[in-house]
Amino acid sequence: MHVFLGVDCKTNGCKGKFVLAYLGEEPNVLQSFTMQAPSRFRLHCLNCDETHRYSFSEIHRMERPEPPPSDFRNHVQIIRDDSHLRKPN
Ligand SMILES: [Zn+2]
Repeated sequence: MHVFLGVDCKTNGCKGKFVLAYLGEEPNVLQSFTMQAPSRFRLHCLNCDETHRYSFSEIHRMERPEPPPSDFRNHVQIIRDDSHLRKPN
């Protein structure tokens, strides 16, 4: 499965989803990272034509069988955290 970060459309009954970042394909999914996203943001859903407000805490993990399109770019900045890999001096 391919793992993403995103939010769900808040319109009742709408299945719209917004993919904000791609974390990779299992088992090589980025596990340790810092996400830089606005604390609050708005997204317009093309499925139901409604705009809703979202907060940082509503961004959650999503899984899909398909990889992102080749021109996909993350909408939030993902900073890899390798600090657990570094050896102490
Ligand atoms: Zn929607």
